[in-house]
Amino acid sequence: MDCIFCKIITGELATEFLAENDHAVAFRDIAPNAPVHILVVPKQHSKNIAELTDVASQTGLFDLIRQVAREQTDGQFRLQFNTGEREGQSVFHTHAHVLSAKAAS
Ligand code: 5GP
Ligand code: ZN
Repeated sequence: MDCIFCKIITGELATEFLAENDHAVAFRDIAPNAPVHILVVPKQHSKNIAELTDVASQTGLFDLIRQVAREQTDGQFRLQFNTGEREGQSVFHTHAHVLSAKAAS
Protein backbone atom coordinates (compact mmCIF):
# COMPACT_ATOMS: atom_id res chain seq x y z
CA MET A 1 0.00 0.00 0.00
CA ASP A 2 1.36 3.39 -0.95
CA CYS A 3 0.58 5.34 2.22
CA ILE A 4 2.81 8.25 3.21
CA PHE A 5 1.94 8.03 6.94
CA CYS A 6 2.65 4.27 7.01
CA LYS A 7 6.07 5.11 5.55
CA ILE A 8 6.65 7.72 8.27
CA ILE A 9 5.61 5.22 10.96
CA THR A 10 7.95 2.48 9.69
CA GLY A 11 10.83 4.95 9.28
CA GLU A 12 11.00 4.54 5.49
CA LEU A 13 10.39 8.29 5.31
CA ALA A 14 12.57 9.91 7.99
CA THR A 15 10.54 12.20 10.25
CA GLU A 16 11.26 13.39 13.77
CA PHE A 17 8.71 12.15 16.29
CA LEU A 18 7.72 14.59 19.05
CA ALA A 19 6.09 11.78 21.02
CA GLU A 20 5.18 8.12 20.62
CA ASN A 21 3.40 5.35 22.47
CA ASP A 22 2.61 1.72 21.57
CA HIS A 23 -0.27 2.72 19.29
CA ALA A 24 0.42 6.18 17.89
CA VAL A 25 3.09 8.69 16.85
CA ALA A 26 3.15 12.51 16.74
CA PHE A 27 5.11 14.72 14.36
CA ARG A 28 4.94 18.26 13.01
CA ASP A 29 2.82 18.99 9.94
CA ILE A 30 5.07 19.71 6.96
CA ALA A 31 2.90 22.74 6.02
CA PRO A 32 1.78 24.23 9.34
CA ASN A 33 -1.20 26.58 9.39
CA ALA A 34 -0.91 27.53 13.07
CA PRO A 35 2.08 28.26 15.34
CA VAL A 36 1.61 24.74 16.73
CA HIS A 37 0.42 22.20 14.15
CA ILE A 38 1.07 18.59 15.06
CA LEU A 39 -0.31 15.41 13.52
CA VAL A 40 -1.13 12.49 15.82
CA VAL A 41 -1.39 9.25 13.89
CA PRO A 42 -2.38 5.70 14.90
CA LYS A 43 0.28 3.15 13.92
CA GLN A 44 -2.28 0.70 12.56
CA HIS A 45 -3.53 1.79 9.15
CA SER A 46 -7.16 2.87 8.81
CA LYS A 47 -8.59 5.31 6.30
CA ASN A 48 -10.14 7.88 8.63
CA ILE A 49 -11.49 8.36 12.16
CA ALA A 50 -14.86 6.87 11.16
CA GLU A 51 -13.06 3.61 10.36
CA LEU A 52 -10.79 3.54 13.41
CA THR A 53 -12.61 0.73 15.20
CA ASP A 54 -9.69 -0.87 17.07
CA VAL A 55 -10.18 0.09 20.72
CA ALA A 56 -6.50 -0.13 21.66
CA SER A 57 -5.66 2.23 18.77
CA GLN A 58 -8.43 4.62 19.81
CA THR A 59 -7.17 4.73 23.39
CA GLY A 60 -3.53 5.05 22.32
CA LEU A 61 -4.39 7.83 19.89
CA PHE A 62 -6.29 9.90 22.46
CA ASP A 63 -3.65 9.31 25.14
CA LEU A 64 -1.03 10.71 22.75
CA ILE A 65 -3.26 13.65 21.74
CA ARG A 66 -3.57 14.61 25.42
CA GLN A 67 0.19 14.24 25.95
CA VAL A 68 1.04 16.37 22.90
CA ALA A 69 -1.48 19.03 23.89
CA ARG A 70 0.00 19.14 27.40
CA GLU A 71 3.63 19.19 26.25
CA GLN A 72 3.46 21.33 23.10
CA THR A 73 0.65 23.86 23.67
CA ASP A 74 -0.28 26.29 26.44
CA GLY A 75 -3.33 24.12 27.16
CA GLN A 76 -5.63 25.79 24.61
CA PHE A 77 -5.90 24.02 21.28
CA ARG A 78 -8.15 22.74 18.51
CA LEU A 79 -8.49 19.12 17.47
CA GLN A 80 -9.48 18.34 13.88
CA PHE A 81 -10.10 15.10 11.97
CA ASN A 82 -10.72 15.85 8.30
CA THR A 83 -12.77 12.93 7.03
CA GLY A 84 -13.32 12.44 3.31
CA GLU A 85 -11.95 14.37 0.34
CA ARG A 86 -14.77 16.92 0.23
CA GLU A 87 -14.11 17.77 3.91
CA GLY A 88 -10.42 18.44 3.33
CA GLN A 89 -8.80 15.05 3.89
CA SER A 90 -5.75 14.65 1.66
CA VAL A 91 -3.89 11.80 3.40
CA PHE A 92 -6.06 8.72 3.77
CA HIS A 93 -4.52 7.35 6.96
CA THR A 94 -6.35 8.43 10.12
CA HIS A 95 -4.77 11.47 11.78
CA ALA A 96 -5.67 14.19 14.25
CA HIS A 97 -4.51 17.77 13.74
CA VAL A 98 -3.57 19.42 17.05
CA LEU A 99 -3.60 23.17 16.38
CA SER A 100 -2.77 26.00 18.75
CA ALA A 101 -1.91 29.68 18.55
CA LYS A 102 0.55 29.30 21.42
CA ALA A 103 3.33 26.82 22.10
CA ALA A 104 4.10 25.65 25.62
CA SER A 105 6.54 27.98 27.35
P1 5GP B 1 -5.44 16.23 5.84
O1 5GP B 1 -5.52 17.28 4.75
O2 5GP B 1 -5.50 14.84 5.23
O3 5GP B 1 -6.39 16.41 6.97
O4 5GP B 1 -4.02 16.40 6.51
C1 5GP B 1 -2.86 15.89 5.96
C2 5GP B 1 -1.73 16.75 6.48
O5 5GP B 1 -0.52 16.05 6.28
C3 5GP B 1 -1.60 18.09 5.74
O6 5GP B 1 -1.77 19.15 6.67
C4 5GP B 1 -0.17 18.04 5.16
O7 5GP B 1 0.50 19.27 5.24
C5 5GP B 1 0.50 16.96 5.98
N1 5GP B 1 1.51 16.19 5.29
C6 5GP B 1 1.41 15.65 4.04
N2 5GP B 1 2.53 14.99 3.74
C7 5GP B 1 3.36 15.10 4.81
C8 5GP B 1 4.67 14.61 5.08
O8 5GP B 1 5.33 13.93 4.28
N3 5GP B 1 5.21 14.93 6.30
C9 5GP B 1 4.53 15.67 7.22
N4 5GP B 1 5.14 15.92 8.38
N5 5GP B 1 3.29 16.14 6.99
C10 5GP B 1 2.71 15.86 5.80
ZN1 ZN C 1 -1.22 4.14 6.27
